[in-house]
Amino acid sequence: MQERLALLKNQALKAIAGACSIVELEELRVRYLGRKAGALTEVLRSLKDLDDAEKRSVGQAANVVKNELTDAFSKRLADLDTQSAKAGIDLTLPGRRRFIGSKHPLTIVTDRIVDIFTGMGFEEILGPEVESEWYNFEALNIPEGHPARGEMFGNFYLPGGLLLRSHTSPVQIRVMEKRKPPVRVIAPGRVYRRDAFDASHSPAFYQAEGLYVDEDVSLADLKGTLEVFSQEMFGTDIRTRFSPSYFPFTEPSAELSISCVICGGKGCSVCSHTGWLEILGCGMVHPQVLRNVGYDPEKFTGFAFGMGIERVAMIHYRIDDIRHFYSNDIRFLSQFREAW
Ligand SMILES: [Zn+2]
Repeated sequence: MQERLALLKNQALKAIAGACSIVELEELRVRYLGRKAGALTEVLRSLKDLDDAEKRSVGQAANVVKNELTDAFSKRLADLDTQSAKAGIDLTLPGRRRFIGSKHPLTIVTDRIVDIFTGMGFEEILGPEVESEWYNFEALNIPEGHPARGEMFGNFYLPGGLLLRSHTSPVQIRVMEKRKPPVRVIAPGRVYRRDAFDASHSPAFYQAEGLYVDEDVSLADLKGTLEVFSQEMFGTDIRTRFSPSYFPFTEPSAELSISCVICGGKGCSVCSHTGWLEILGCGMVHPQVLRNVGYDPEKFTGFAFGMGIERVAMIHYRIDDIRHFYSNDIRFLSQFREAW
């Protein structure tokens, strides 16, 4: 009996391993383990003719064989399943593209700007987009009737003496009112001006404002900080140039240019053949601005800067029309990945 079982087991295992389809495997299962006429079932049935001792030993052996074969059947079935699933895939078909979201280029550039300055010890802060004239103008040394108030900004006024902020500089005032020096902040945000919507202007755009006030902050600190920023942002091979400028809230004031990233300074249409690209305005905080927030300008000095984030993004990504940023064209927006 034991020999018959061993033979049956070997035959069955061989057949299972050789089964090439699920149908074939099922036929084998019926042949060996089928309840009515399965070969193993026959063996078990014949147990009744044996004496008790034999019944027990053959019965145990038959159960072991039954379990082994059941395992072998399920393993082979799983294999055949996997194979047929594989066979169902046409590997020559093009893959299905997964559309994953990506950050807006302005978000990428804003994050990068904030990253660079936080790396130098600045803290990111935000301010309101609806401002009073005090924060947007007076406190920044732009009194009523000041030519800058009319000429530099066309503003969106709201009822109650409020307006949509025309620059991020009011955040300087808000932070200095609340804190004592040292103050070292970077404030990105949206600003509004009544500009035409064309290739280089938008009525709503983004700025990042920086401010550092403490004892003994000098123009050299301003230059050093912004040179580090420029090289981190645009590459270590660019050169920087500060030229005199005017802003009511800084004295002296300057504009920072970098050597043209397109032509390397030789001159091209992007840099108007000057070899330089202006990237931001900056200067030493005007003593009157410090007095307006209750700081003693004899004791404290500071520098401030403000840059257009679109401008930085346009230079970095070589984009020639600011309107691309707001058109929500997925073909444009999906091209940007963090590049640092
Ligand atoms: Zn150029």
